[in-house]
Amino acid sequence: MLRITLPLVRPFHTTRGVDVERRLCVVRVVSSEGEGWGECAALNEPGYTSEWADGAASVIEATLAPALLRGGSAADPLNPMASAALALAVLDADLRATGVSLASHLGATASRVPSGIALGLDAGLDDVGSAVEAGYHRVKLKIAPGHDVDFVRSVRAAWPDLALQVDANGAYSPADADHLAALDDLDLLLIEQPLATDDLDGHAALAARLRTPVCLDESITSAAAADEALRRRACSVICIKAGRLGGLDEAVAVHDRCLAAAVPVWCGGMLESGLGRAANLALAALPGFTLPGDLSASSRWFAADLTEPLTLDADGYLAVPSGPGIGVSPRADALARFTESRVTVRP
Ligand code: MG
Repeated sequence: MLRITLPLVRPFHTTRGVDVERRLCVVRVVSSEGEGWGECAALNEPGYTSEWADGAASVIEATLAPALLRGGSAADPLNPMASAALALAVLDADLRATGVSLASHLGATASRVPSGIALGLDAGLDDVGSAVEAGYHRVKLKIAPGHDVDFVRSVRAAWPDLALQVDANGAYSPADADHLAALDDLDLLLIEQPLATDDLDGHAALAARLRTPVCLDESITSAAAADEALRRRACSVICIKAGRLGGLDEAVAVHDRCLAAAVPVWCGGMLESGLGRAANLALAALPGFTLPGDLSASSRWFAADLTEPLTLDADGYLAVPSGPGIGVSPRADALARFTESRVTVRP
């Protein structure tokens, strides 16, 4: 268990304030066959989710890793992101030992995936311009009451052909439906999580009211939750995050259901280092991921990444790692520089 702190190249705005560094919980599993790595998606502080990086590290050290070493389950539904990180490290060790890439293990069909960028509430037109200039295939704008239709309209006016979507992180209420309907003229790919996480009825009513497709992110905590949301017509697109779903098995289960039902999915991001980003790229290479994800270059957030930096190619794509396991490893010099503490859990 490593607690790592990476400086950010730009501030990251959260529900609790502004982060200037990314604290990470990274799991390294050592077995008789070799080692494996897993990065936890939890952010610096609880807020966006109830899990946070230091808390997840404590849960893994005190509960999940000892349970695994006793031969039990390391999955805890109350701590999906911690569970996912440990499961990924175990899987990565197995795959590295057998020489199989995570992408091929998951059933990936693409060797590269289109990039996408998520811009915060503090972003302006110049930030959109920089993203377009950098080659991003799709731009996502965060919206909230007081910062929505007018700003999105100004972006659309400046870039008429840009693949554009918005994310509200649950900031609206059903009473805002008429206001949000003004987005329908702006040719958006989707509106993400407009209402509260548990309001499937409200999302269904909004989805019926809007021409803009409604996508759910925070609400989709399991494959069963995805089934229920689709059955109730609360969304027509789903954002998949393996951490939120408790791991890659559940993420692939959501993907498979959506692929069978012709529901587009895309891969979310959680300010991951190159390690977590590489795992996201493997997932996003599955055939149901027909929309660009929040998959950006290392340089979007980090001057020095934990791994070799991930970069966009000349066409604005990211290569899906093809080496064994996740396909990338933390650099020894980066670990030495950014690791705050480490704890070993033994059988
Ligand atoms: Mg979101």
